[in-house]
Amino acid sequence: MTLKENVPLSTLTTLRVGGVARFVAECASEEDIHEALLFAHHQNIPWVVLGQGSNVLAPDAGFDGIVLLMREEDIKMKEEGSEVFLTAAAGVSWDALVQHAAKQGVWGIENLAGIPGTVGAAPVQNIGAYGMEVKDTITQVRVLNTGTGTIQVFSNEECAFGYRDSRFKHDKKYVILSVTFRLSKDGIPSLSYKDIAMYVETNGSLDTPAAVGKAVRSIRARKFPDLLVHGTAGSFFKNPTVSLDTYGALRARYPELPGFPNDHGVKVPLAFVLDKILSLRGYREGNVWLFDAQPLVLVSDTGARAGEIDAFANAIAARVHAVTNINIEREVQMLV
Ligand code: NAP
Repeated sequence: MTLKENVPLSTLTTLRVGGVARFVAECASEEDIHEALLFAHHQNIPWVVLGQGSNVLAPDAGFDGIVLLMREEDIKMKEEGSEVFLTAAAGVSWDALVQHAAKQGVWGIENLAGIPGTVGAAPVQNIGAYGMEVKDTITQVRVLNTGTGTIQVFSNEECAFGYRDSRFKHDKKYVILSVTFRLSKDGIPSLSYKDIAMYVETNGSLDTPAAVGKAVRSIRARKFPDLLVHGTAGSFFKNPTVSLDTYGALRARYPELPGFPNDHGVKVPLAFVLDKILSLRGYREGNVWLFDAQPLVLVSDTGARAGEIDAFANAIAARVHAVTNINIEREVQMLV
């Protein structure tokens, strides 16, 4: 492993804020991960895992411990009839995996093109986009259980996946080492979401995973800020699900409010609430603002601090609650 000292967390997270991490270990293999954890044990310091830091708010106070940066890049492929199993190390860039699958012409994760982050982070919050969730292709998650020091393999059911949720989000003793996906040579494009359907109307049919991936990346480029230009973690909040009654009451006040029924009630696009009900598109306080093209996305300008982002997000949540009575939850996680 490569060990560095006193590394600004702002350089390891896409929101680009946060104080200094006392140690950072670049882990390019499972041996490196074991070594870094042993180092933490001997130094008696806490540890956290980071992939590309694209869904994390790092504290201004920094982290007096060791950050394990997942950097192993390995993808293995196995074919069984029309099914193709890809096993990718946690450090593989998520979009690199999507592109790899597209090159093989296999279906199942193409709508998840362009999502920042690593393979290891994907199951943690069960990433999803445009009608596809990563849980629908995952067969196994291989982890290091730091409580027992043993390797465990979780089946899909054992991962307890939910909407942007899994057991790994709540139980931090597991370090995800690799993930296995079941993809198919015979998939059918999933084009029901409005943005993709509109793309098809303008550009014609999408017949391969690569074509769908290209379409999704072009849609995302219009709606989400460029990580090379802006500090951001993408959608800062989850889209809330409200009860049927609450939705009915809101719909009476805001007849245009979209709603998508699911098992728990009706999912409401928070971007609509922020934009059309609260007029917060582009709203700014100091160095923090809501992106014009997609107000669910919080942007942090140079000079922003984690405390400022935290206060801004709380203020937005309070405004949503005051007007709609909806409690919104953050999608972005605190580093510690
Ligand atoms: P969008 O497509 O405008 O959708 C906004 C909300 O409406 C989402 O909650 C979405 O559900 C729901 N929705 C829209 N069309 C739907 C349909 N046909 N059936 C059921 N539900 C529908 O959202 P956006 O902000 O531009 O983001 C595009 C996609 O990327 C969305 O799917 C969003 O969830 C996803 N995304 C995921 C992450 C992540 O995994 N961390 C981060 C940012 C955005 P769903 O959320 O279930 O799709």
